[in-house]
Amino acid sequence: MSPGEEDVEASSDSGGSATRRCAACKFLRRRCSRDCVLAPHFPASDPHRYACVQRVFGAGNTARMLQVITDHYY
Ligand SMILES: [Zn+2]
Repeated sequence: MSPGEEDVEASSDSGGSATRRCAACKFLRRRCSRDCVLAPHFPASDPHRYACVQRVFGAGNTARMLQVITDHYY
């Protein structure tokens, strides 16, 4: 019951103004869609995490891996 609380995930489909990209998309310089498979694993607040994973597995493998996991999870 806090009226002053800000909703960061507010759904504004009015044309994509300041979109919050996840750490992975920011790193890869691509658009982060709302159903981005990397976003739940690599929040924008933790860019170092993606940098480490990407260095170990490679950017392509990381995306594919998480895509498979997410497909099975849902
Ligand atoms: Zn993303």
